[in-house]
Formats: sequence, C-alpha cells, structure tokens
Amino acid sequence: MEIGILGGGIAGLSVALALRKQGYNPRVYERRAVPATMGAGVTLWPNASFVLDELGLLQDIEAIGGRPLTMRRQDAAGNALGGLDIGLLDRTMGYPTYTVLRRHLQEVLLDHAARAGIAVEFGRRAVGIELNAHGRAVAHFENGASICPDLLIGADGRMESVARKFVAGDNTPIYQGFVNWIGVAQGSHPLVDDISIQDFWGAGERFGCVAVRPELVYWAAAQARPLNEATPTADMRKEVENLFAKWPEPVSRIINATPENAIRLIAVHDLEPLHTWSRANVLLVGDAAHAPLPTSGQGACQALEDAWHLARCLDGGSGGLEEIFQVFAKIRAPKTARLAEQGRVFARGLFATDPETCRIRNERVKASDPVRDVQVLAAGWGQGLPMSGGADSRSMAGGGFGSLYSLE
Ligand SMILES: Cc1cc2nc3c(=O)[nH]c(=O)nc-3n(C[C@H](O)[C@H](O)[C@H](O)COP(=O)(O)OP(=O)(O)OC[C@H]3O[C@@H](n4cnc5c(N)ncnc54)[C@H](O)[C@@H]3O)c2cc1C
Repeated sequence: MEIGILGGGIAGLSVALALRKQGYNPRVYERRAVPATMGAGVTLWPNASFVLDELGLLQDIEAIGGRPLTMRRQDAAGNALGGLDIGLLDRTMGYPTYTVLRRHLQEVLLDHAARAGIAVEFGRRAVGIELNAHGRAVAHFENGASICPDLLIGADGRMESVARKFVAGDNTPIYQGFVNWIGVAQGSHPLVDDISIQDFWGAGERFGCVAVRPELVYWAAAQARPLNEATPTADMRKEVENLFAKWPEPVSRIINATPENAIRLIAVHDLEPLHTWSRANVLLVGDAAHAPLPTSGQGACQALEDAWHLARCLDGGSGGLEEIFQVFAKIRAPKTARLAEQGRVFARGLFATDPETCRIRNERVKASDPVRDVQVLAAGWGQGLPMSGGADSRSMAGGGFGSLYSLE
C-alpha cells in the first residue's frame, strides 16, 4: 500500500516510523525547506516514553533529555503551592519522563527515519486536497506536483491544516485568550539547582521553566490577552523581563540567559473536537485531528500515541480503510477530547485575573493529595495503553484535576 504523510512534525515522523516497523513504506512531505530549529521544548511524559520505547527511540531520547523527578509550584511571591512527584508518576506508569528540546527530538525522529529508509521530502507544501474520479484523494503541492497514494495521512499541524480542511470543512482554530512567549536559555553556568520543572502562578500570568540540564532550560511565559494584542513587539525579551521582573528566581535569570532572537510569541489556539477524523482515504493525526492547549501537557505525547495505535489498527484490520479509520477514531477520540477539555479547564483557572478566584485556586491546589494526584494522572495518561497505571475512560470521568499538574 502506498502511504503519503503530509507534515514532518512529531506526528508525521512518528507515524512514519511506526508504519515502517509494520513493513509499510510511507513517504513524508514537509513544507519547510529544512528541518525546524525553532520552538522550545517538550516534556515527554511516561505515556510518550512507552511509545518511544516501542519505536526503538528511547535510548536516544535518554541521551538528549533531562530526567526530572519533581515539579515544584509557587505563586508569584514565591510561596510554595505543592507540586508533583514525577519520580512516583514514573514508577506508577513504568516509564520515565524526559524533558527535551524540540529541535533535538526532531533530530532523533529524522535520524531514525533516515536509518529506516523513510523518504522525507522537504520543501513540499501541500496547498489543497481533492477527490479524483475514483473517489481517491489527490494532494497538490505548491510547486505544482501532486500525489495520489492509497492512504493519505494528514499530520500538518494545528493552525492551517490542509488535510483538516479537506476532512472537516472549515475547522478554524480557536484563540483561548492567552499568549505564550517561548524560549530556550543557555548559560555558561548552571541556571537552576536541579533537573526539575518549576511552575509559577500569578493572576492571569504564568511562568514555567523546564530544565534539560542545569545550564539548559526551556521556558514558557504566559499572559491573558485579547487577540488584537497578541502581536510580537520589537524587544520581546525586555517585555517579558519587565512583566516578570518581581517574580522569584530563577525567572529573571532564565529570561536574561535567553538570546533575544530565540524568543517567540504564540497566540495560543486549540480545536473543538472534530466529528470525524477521516474522509475517503484521508486520515488526520496529531494536532491536525486534536490540538489541545499547551496546558494539557499532552500535545506531543498524544501525537506519539496516535502513531502507536494507527500502526496496530492498520496491522489488525481485515476490512477496508474506512473500517480501520473508524476503529482508530473510536480508540483515540475520547481520550484526546478529554485531554483537550482538561487543558481548557486548567487554562481558565490559570488565567483568571480576579484575585479571590486565584486565591481559592491556589489554596485548592496546595491542599491536594500528592499521591492521589499521581494516581489520577497515571490513570488518565496511561488510558488505552498497555502500561501500568492506565484506566479505561469510564473510570476517568471527573478525573480532570490531574491536569493541574501539567506544563508543556
Ligand atoms: C504555544 C504552544 C506551545 C507548545 N508547547 C509544547 C510543549 O512544550 N510540549 C509539548 O509536548 N507540546 C507542546 N505543544 C503542543 C505540540 O506542539 C503539538 O501537540 C505537537 O507538536 C503535535 O505534533 P504535530 O506533528 O501534529 O504538529 P506539528 O509539530 O505542528 O507538525 C506539523 C508539521 O506539518 C508541517 N506542515 C504544516 N502545513 C503543511 C503543509 N501544508 N504541507 C506540508 N507540511 C505542512 C509543519 O511544517 C510541521 O512540520 C505546544 C503547542 C503550542 C500551541
């Protein structure tokens, strides 16, 4: 079977690797001329590590990644608000958590794709998909070329997915009322004391920093803002520095250790759950199908899970593509919709600006039971995977509280 994949991000490359392992020969078409070097970092929680292990990538991830054992939360004045015992989460789920720079993760995925003989074509921007006279999808590229594979996988991301437009019509991403500045700080000396995740909560503002090594830290600063003010300024480092000047260290130290040209502003959007992920021989995966907010902590992890499940569905399916797509969506849609919803609920609390609401939020999170929080997270994130701690989706009803602990 000929398989074409639009998009060479985390979803596209991991799907290609998973399908290659099953004996297929997928081809990846990526719009960028060269591999991406921008973007900050990704926390690969144990459910992602499970998939990476299955794909044979975990050793390489270990070599490039940090191994955080704790997440510490504080308010903007430096008062402790509890945290997450990541070591316990890892033991509960049976796989480690890693923090990695996004560009390093891309390098590992591309390196394994090359070793597996997967063709990744750069500079191939899809501009549209249409059905031919046989009811089969034809993807057209900017340079005038087109492809008509047996199976076309849309892994072309969150903001302007050509594949999603074809499958679901006009599914416009929704601005969720806050911006993120993301960056990577690199010091000649340690910037933080240990490999951990630090999460600072204010009123309508947040600063999260994630160590890969003590001198290499990626971060995301966030602020509630109307969309018409979500535009980059000439000196974004100064802007972020001023905004978080009075917050506890290491916030200022980390901002200062970030080159100005390594800071990016993102107006954060997500998607409403789609009513379908497929049309004809086209299937959506990753953010094109189910982009959650960064506050879900699970965007990249869920893209990886898609890869693992899709390979199994294709391998086990005796019927046609339509049946395989249905089985895939039935497995994946409830979990991804739940995580997307949790990301929204968390963001609403996090970016509340009313001081009393923030006080209650902080008190609540301080009073939460750390062991139960780990159990809830393990059950939610492990759901649908053969790993310990996982639960079926029914037992996760109301278990969204665990999303208070997520930071991508
Ligand atoms: C502000 C923000 C911060 C985030 N931070 C994190 C984080 O720290 N950790 C984390 O786990 N997740 C994070 N996420 C979520 C994460 O980025 C995504 O969930 C994850 O990258 C999904 O992978 P993907 O391959 O589906 O999409 P992407 O990684 O976006 O990849 C899509 C690929 O498709 C290509 N493409 C797009 N259009 C076309 C086209 N027309 N033709 C060909 N190719 C095309 C793109 O160039 C890209 O390479 C964040 C999301 C946002 C919005």
